[in-house]
Amino acid sequence: MVKTYADLYLDARKALLPSEGMYAGNIARELVCAASGKTQEALIADRGLYASEEICLRVENFVRRHLTGEPTAYILGQWDFADMTLTVTPDVLIPRDDSMAVTELAIKKGLFLPQNPRILDLCTGSGCIGLAVARRVKDAKITLADISQEALRVAKKNTADLHLGGRVSCVLVDVKKPAAPFLGKFDMIVSNPPYVTTAEMERLDASVKDYEPHLALHGGEDGLDFYRAIVQNFTPALRPGGCVAFEFGKGQDAAVCQILEQADYRILELKQDNSGILRAVLAQHGEEAAES
Ligand code: GLN
Repeated sequence: MVKTYADLYLDARKALLPSEGMYAGNIARELVCAASGKTQEALIADRGLYASEEICLRVENFVRRHLTGEPTAYILGQWDFADMTLTVTPDVLIPRDDSMAVTELAIKKGLFLPQNPRILDLCTGSGCIGLAVARRVKDAKITLADISQEALRVAKKNTADLHLGGRVSCVLVDVKKPAAPFLGKFDMIVSNPPYVTTAEMERLDASVKDYEPHLALHGGEDGLDFYRAIVQNFTPALRPGGCVAFEFGKGQDAAVCQILEQADYRILELKQDNSGILRAVLAQHGEEAAES
């Protein structure tokens, strides 16, 4: 059946109304725009035009996926973070507002590092944190690293789309193994590693548990495996007096600080997320830490 863009929008809204209530119109508009490649303004301007069969089917598909609980970011294939529109696929976590805490700590420190600092983003996923740092710390050379080849593909696309290929590179890294010497030394390591405990994995929201990559979420029995591994394997990849900035889960602040302190780091700052939960730490390694 032929439909105008107005029909497409109204039908989508009707289908979404029982579950989404007052948000149905906004979601319908977003899904129709994404399915047709139109901006919201263009959708309004073109409301009387007929949409192609292909677009009609794509809108139906998007609405159906939304109704089964698939996160909007995966349906749209993109998500905004720190003023960037990033490609996301089910191979990477959806960038979360929570991650602004570690991003802001890393940017603040990055701006005061020596010229042309080298910064490593471990467990980078979509690249959201490292790319946000690259955009603000304009002389930094950033390495985005992940164990997932599929995630790196997404990180590479985001790097290219943001025209950061000159300063940002992507490498396959398993943080559970010693840092490869070819990586060289870094002024700062930033990471939002998997930190969900085995018990919490069972209790995650269905929208997370059923759709987001468990590889990027599960941090072992106590959720801390990756902090121990990164500190053990990547401290040797830091320049003297280098820093790490970690995101961590609710209530993990003391345990993560302890892992750092036991490895000769000094805690410089802890930061809350926008919900008031302690979410990130900045720490400096080695003797210079005591002097600065
Ligand atoms: N904040 C994410 C969540 O709770 C977890 C992210 C992570 O493990 N790094 O869904």
